[in-house]
Amino acid sequence: MPYKPYKEVALGLASALIIFLAANGYDLLPLLFLGGALGLLFYFLHSRGAVRSLVVKGGKDDDTITFAEIGGQRAAVEELKEALDFIRHYPQARRLGVRPLKGILLTGPPGTGKTLLAKAAAGYTDSVFLAASGSEFVEMYAGVGAQRIRNLFQMARERAQQNGKNRAIIFIDEIDVLGGKRGKVNSHLEYDQTLNQLLVEMDGMKGDEKVNILVIAATNRADLLDPALLRPGRFDRQVRVDLPDKEGRLEILQLHTRNKPLAPEVDLEAVAKETLGFSGAHLESLANEAAILALREGANCISQRHFMEAIERVMLGARLERRPGKEEIWRVAVHETGHAMVSEWIRPGSVTTLTVTPRGGALGYFRQQYDEDSYLYTQEQLEGRLAVLLAGAIAEEVVLGTRSTGAANDFEQATRIAETMVRSGMSRLGVAGSAEVPEELHHELLKEIFSRQEERVKNYLEGNRSRLISIAERLLAEERLTGEVFRELFAQERVPSTCQQEKRGGKANK
Ligand code: ATP
Repeated sequence: MPYKPYKEVALGLASALIIFLAANGYDLLPLLFLGGALGLLFYFLHSRGAVRSLVVKGGKDDDTITFAEIGGQRAAVEELKEALDFIRHYPQARRLGVRPLKGILLTGPPGTGKTLLAKAAAGYTDSVFLAASGSEFVEMYAGVGAQRIRNLFQMARERAQQNGKNRAIIFIDEIDVLGGKRGKVNSHLEYDQTLNQLLVEMDGMKGDEKVNILVIAATNRADLLDPALLRPGRFDRQVRVDLPDKEGRLEILQLHTRNKPLAPEVDLEAVAKETLGFSGAHLESLANEAAILALREGANCISQRHFMEAIERVMLGARLERRPGKEEIWRVAVHETGHAMVSEWIRPGSVTTLTVTPRGGALGYFRQQYDEDSYLYTQEQLEGRLAVLLAGAIAEEVVLGTRSTGAANDFEQATRIAETMVRSGMSRLGVAGSAEVPEELHHELLKEIFSRQEERVKNYLEGNRSRLISIAERLLAEERLTGEVFRELFAQERVPSTCQQEKRGGKANK
């Protein structure tokens, strides 16, 4: 290309103009000031902001990984694969009029493997992979973020074509930084413009272009996202990527010790048991720390002691998000067992899972299955639900003597149920317009409904205290109990009174 000295000519002309004006006695200060401001603006918008500081990773083939290299995320992998199959078999889907999948949102705590999942998705769909972080799009200068979004999509198309592929996956980590609810950031509209540009790009994707793009975004806080992002046709698939449970942690440890020499006595299961609350990233670091310890000692292989010491190191080095202490986990185990026992007592066969692995903002959880989705509930059903909700706190009281804040969410749900009962004429007041019930009386009615159930649950759990403790101990040891295992334990030492028998005997609390 012939050399074109535009910059030099422009500089020469500008200098000549300045000398000419100065020689003729003009005040040059405003001109210089204006020139400086324009220069700075140009610099931020074009050279630094829009192009250079967008750190895009990925695209190399040695970067690809497979789903088999991701441990402890079976449910997330299945869900993701199911969504990606639409893309792999798009011609068939298109014939049936299925619209292209444009966005998948991965939600979950840091270090659980969201980036790995997005990379594996690229391998699975034979796409080029580009990754950027939400914070890279947000600058103080209006328009920069939007420009970067355009560049990113452009870059994805170019990279795919260079690699002879017709698909690209753009992974945006920390999407909440740029995709927060619009109008909430009051300093300027930069965030809103960036988000708008992302929506425009996603809406523009038709599924029949030379390069089809899929956006995979990750966040820890899906609740902060602008609803426009979650609208059908944008990020309409959400995949939850949670902290791994004991089995999951074992899988991840096995993956990260594959290429490390382990002493014969190493018991990775015991390590998995000790690492409740660890993410995949923590476990990777744990395996690495254990190897470093072995290296320092000049050992040929990594022993169990190295792993146990490494646990402490990882815990001290990184403040683990919400890693409960031993007493706290015991309380959670008692709480969840209380819910499960009352659920099983009231509706035999209803418990599906109970776990003390921290998940989705809770320290543990218990799941029950419903026969079918009902639109109407009888008083008996609502009272049963109330009893199950209150059972966690009451179990804590029965076993540990006190309640904790862990039940706040249960009580919120219980209050909504009790309010529905009052509105549906199931309180002692009978049918009455809610507007006419004074606040004090309303409060009293709720209290009556609660105390009836509290008494019923307390009697039951006190009568079954030893069973409650032994199941909670088992839950603590196993970390997760399936419905079947729970029912086996529940059936042992069974006392003859069941809910139905109690009701037949006239003891039902109505
Ligand atoms: P962040 O939200 O902080 O970006 P992330 O969820 O995207 O985190 P990754 O970047 O995918 O987490 O994981 C970081 C590292 O931790 C990975 O490179 C891998 O070594 C390890 N890791 C995390 N999760 C898993 C997993 N499920 N299986 C195997 N390794 C994992």
